[in-house]
Amino acid sequence: MDNIRRNDRAGWLQGPSATCSSLPVSVPDPWRLILLGAPGVGKGTQAALLNKELHACHLSTGDVFRAAKSQSECDLTPAMKSALEYMRRGDLVPDAFVLAMVRERSACLRCGGGFILDGFPRTLEQAESLSDLMKTELLSLTAVINYELPVEQIVARLGGRLTCEKCKAVFHATERPPKISGTCDICHGKLYQREDDRPESIRIRLEAYDRSTLPLIQFYKRAGLLLTVAATGVPQEICAKTLTALTAWRARHVPVA
Ligand code: AMP
Repeated sequence: MDNIRRNDRAGWLQGPSATCSSLPVSVPDPWRLILLGAPGVGKGTQAALLNKELHACHLSTGDVFRAAKSQSECDLTPAMKSALEYMRRGDLVPDAFVLAMVRERSACLRCGGGFILDGFPRTLEQAESLSDLMKTELLSLTAVINYELPVEQIVARLGGRLTCEKCKAVFHATERPPKISGTCDICHGKLYQREDDRPESIRIRLEAYDRSTLPLIQFYKRAGLLLTVAATGVPQEICAKTLTALTAWRARHVPVA
């Protein structure tokens, strides 16, 4: 089953007034995962690959902002316009706005196919609010995957990253070049460099990660949910390592009857 092509994630990207093009199949024990790791470790790519394997929906807060950015100015609320300004600079969008946006989309957390959160939570306040929201919804997280990569490799990955305007597929100028320069292999959309992948924004994003997101590693370690995976190698290798780690993880965490 290829959820990526079949499910347009409209309920997440556009909000609760929109309906997803297809709902993932409900499974008895859905995966409810958070992906952590500095910008550039490949969380988005892994979320898309894991979506294919585990059928849990890819929920990226960054994708919600990018979808809003492609709307016409007059369709954007003043709060969203201001959020997009933070994003352009490479800064984190304030917690209150991000949390309101996620709460509005809590149906996606209840989705019977499970979820893979990518880019959220990013601060302790977001992590604590997510825990409260999950408790209210009577849901629990399966695991939090922390992708690790040396900083020089992160900078090289971000600097060469190319994203498709239309389907959001990610390529890389040297590591994963498209077949035709500037054109997406999947949908033939135009490839572009994200504004926040420019060198000055990369620096700000890595600083924001150290300051705000690193503490989450301790938070989830204390909660007994942290699973660390080395983000080295090609995406398929990293995905295979993740699946092996998740299978072992689930085997260790099977509830005793
Ligand atoms: P990403 O695609 O996850 O790297 O997100 C791109 C940008 O969107 C970030 O650099 C932030 O400006 C903003 N953003 C996405 N998710 C969050 C979040 N959970 N908290 C604050 N800002 C966010």
